[in-house]
Order: sequence, then C-alpha cells, then structure tokens
Amino acid sequence: MILKNSVLKLVNKQLRTCVVFNFHDIVDEDKPVRSDQLSLSSFRSQLCWIQKHFSIVRIDELIDHFQVGTVTKPTAALTFDDGYKSHFKLIKPILDEFQIKAAFYVSSAHLNNDYYWHDLVETYCQHSTASQQKMLEQEVASLTSQSSRSLIESIKYLPLTKRAIVLSTIEESTKQLITKDLLMKSSEVLELSNEGHLIGGHTLNHPILALESEQICVHEIIDDLLALEKLLNRKITTFAYPNGIPDRDFNMSHQEILASYGVKYAVNTDKSVLKKDLNPLSIPRVNLYGSNESLHCNYLLRIITNSLFN
Ligand SMILES: [Zn+2]
Repeated sequence: MILKNSVLKLVNKQLRTCVVFNFHDIVDEDKPVRSDQLSLSSFRSQLCWIQKHFSIVRIDELIDHFQVGTVTKPTAALTFDDGYKSHFKLIKPILDEFQIKAAFYVSSAHLNNDYYWHDLVETYCQHSTASQQKMLEQEVASLTSQSSRSLIESIKYLPLTKRAIVLSTIEESTKQLITKDLLMKSSEVLELSNEGHLIGGHTLNHPILALESEQICVHEIIDDLLALEKLLNRKITTFAYPNGIPDRDFNMSHQEILASYGVKYAVNTDKSVLKKDLNPLSIPRVNLYGSNESLHCNYLLRIITNSLFN
C-alpha cells in the first residue's frame, strides 16, 4: 500500500494531475449503507487520502487555473450531488475541520422536500409483497422500451410525465413510511453558500435531460438556476447534469442552454482526470469506493493511464 501511494504521488507530481471527486449521500455509522451511499467513516478516510495526494480547492478555482495552465501541483475539487441533508449535517462540519470549500449541486424543486422519488420506490419495495412489486414492474415495463435494467434504473430512464404516473400509484401508500427529512432545507443551502461553498444547479426535478423536449429542458435548467439565484442572491455559475453520462443523459443542446445563461462550469459523471482538451461545460468526475487506500490508488492510476491513451 505504501508503495502504491508512492507511485501515485510520483505520477501525480510528474503530470500535475487534476481531479474532480464526486459524492452523493453520506450516512451515519448506525444506519445501513446503500450502494449509492458512503458511510461517514469511509468519507473521512477518503478525504484524508485525497488530501495526502492533492491540494484541494473549489471547482471554479481548479478549472480556471487548469484552463490557463497555471496548475503547479496535483489539485482536486470536491462536489456533492442531490442536496441531501447529510451534506449539511455530516459533511459541512468535516469540511470546516479540514478548511475545504466544495460545490453542492441542488435540485431546487426538491429543497424542503422530505425525499427523492427513488427513496419512495425503495421504501415501497421494502414494504410491499412480491405480487405488488411485480405489478409495479409491469406498469413500468408498459411505459418503457428498455427492459434490461433494475426497477430503479427503469424508472430513472422514464421521461418526467411517465415517471409521475408510476410514482402516483405508490405515493399515497408509501410516503408515511419514509424516514422524513432526507433533503436539505433552503436555509441550509443558504448557509453553505454564505460560508463560501459553491452552490450549483441540478435541474428542478432531476430528469434525464436527453429524454425531454427542448422546452422542458429550458424550464428544468433555467428555472432551477433562477430559483437558486433568488434564494442565494448571487449568480449561479455551475451545474451538474442529472445522472451525467455524456451523449446518453445529456448532449450539446443542453450545454448550449447553460452557455446561453452564463453557466461556466458544468460537471458530468464521465470517470476521468482533467485532460488538455477540457470542455468546461462537460467536466469529468471520479468516485471513490469504500476506504481501502490500495484500491483508491489502483483506481486512480487506471483512470490516469486511460486518460493518457484516450
Ligand atoms: Zn443527481
């Protein structure tokens, strides 16, 4: 492990590697951890590892320096998607302790809500019978031509209007069962912003933009930015594409909507370090898994190697 850390340090120093790390929900140690979540202890150990290998700055500072070629050492930025309550309750105190400023991407229509749609579906599945789940799967299947995905993935890839049809059938019976208060309040987002963290748009309702009409995309992107600007009383300059896979979840037309509004930094989920031909409206981001330093090293070295040859 010490050897791998040394190799990575050497490679980073040589290449002045720049990486944007991405996180979603973080959970307290006493709660079960889903595959899209990270325990608080794993987050803390990942942060220590990132700090061992990189100087950490805010994403706007990183991109500005990268674009003009003034990066002198390996540098990273941290981003947090979806406006989870854990970002305020658990992450902010740790960032304060490490004196780090990060970017938080928030879907403004979900601010002050208790949960995301996928929390509703997961809770329904936990509390329903096999035949009830089968009926839900059949309903989703009737609305989509994609059949090889999990239930959550299938619903994620429905246009907003069809997603709403599915959710309406389970919402009444399920919403009382959900652990409330999973998402941030407006006041908490405002506090993050006032303390120097960057708040970015993430659409109003978190659709897969590529599945929606241009009119709906303009509404989802611009009205989200306007709502955040009204709340924070400052210009929003950054945005995260929901789900974020380039050419599948979003395309050039969505980048043009952002550019026309003056957004300067938009992040995707393409797993790569920053490369010379960086498009600031499609910035790649990397996720770490668990708390094993050796695996972090392997993963990042593989990503760096791929970036060199692609
Ligand atoms: Zn998201």
